[in-house]
Amino acid sequence: MNTTFIAMAVAILLGIGLLVGIGALSLLSGALNFLFIKPKIEILKSQFGEQGFAFSFVWDQEAEPFRFDRLKIQLFNPFGNPVQMEITREFEASGTDFARDLDLGIKMKELLSAKGLTNASIEVEVSSSKDSITHQISMKGNTFLSKYKTATKTALEVTEQFTTPKETVRFEIPERSFISPPLPRSGKALKIATNPEFAGQFSGASDAGAATSTVANYAVTKVWIEPGCIVCDACEGIFPEVFEVTDSTCLIRPGAPLNDGLKIQEAAEACPVEVIKFIKAS
Ligand code: SF4
Repeated sequence: MNTTFIAMAVAILLGIGLLVGIGALSLLSGALNFLFIKPKIEILKSQFGEQGFAFSFVWDQEAEPFRFDRLKIQLFNPFGNPVQMEITREFEASGTDFARDLDLGIKMKELLSAKGLTNASIEVEVSSSKDSITHQISMKGNTFLSKYKTATKTALEVTEQFTTPKETVRFEIPERSFISPPLPRSGKALKIATNPEFAGQFSGASDAGAATSTVANYAVTKVWIEPGCIVCDACEGIFPEVFEVTDSTCLIRPGAPLNDGLKIQEAAEACPVEVIKFIKAS
């Protein structure tokens, strides 16, 4: 019995908590909407002097895809004279943020000179006659007068701001290349038979070299490749009987002839990463 009662109480409390939470969220969303998405009517400087009224209107056009075309200014002046006034004027409809400067004639002048205006209330209303949507701002008469008389921006200037395209943010993409740069030059001349600088220093390298060669050939006891081969094929090109370049490294062929030490030396000196090593026979 007690357990059932406790379970019911907990369920009721949870239900109340849920309702309160939803209410709070709804209030918060309403407040955010009011603060940030609320349409904005701003009073501007009119070129028609005291007969004119200039204003701009900015709103969330995605949420309200309407065309606004009517202005209404209402005076509520219970302790002054006149007690109430209303000026309505239609203007060229706009579906995007806009500014207008309207000549409201003598009625605007009358409103501005109403007795007790500073303590009255003024409501400025912008509406869409086609879609019956209205937005308004209300303020005390003295606030209205102050905004009206101290406004400096004109409707023309604000229209220019609205129509000037916003600067597009551009991101510079740095130039990049995925092609690796050439290997740094060692600055060493390759001591190979085809290099004229060493012509004649290799036995049998060339006819001219053979004629003038003064370097005696020698045998090697061992030749091997240390880690770091970049598979450039240079060694195999020079002495294919000894060197075999695979997809990933260079190998010494089994039974490779080791009696031509000069040619092995030539391959070792041609190796750009100097991983070919050998031991001269004594
Ligand atoms: S020359 Fe050197 S880097 Fe090139 S394949 Fe032969 S061992 Fe490798």
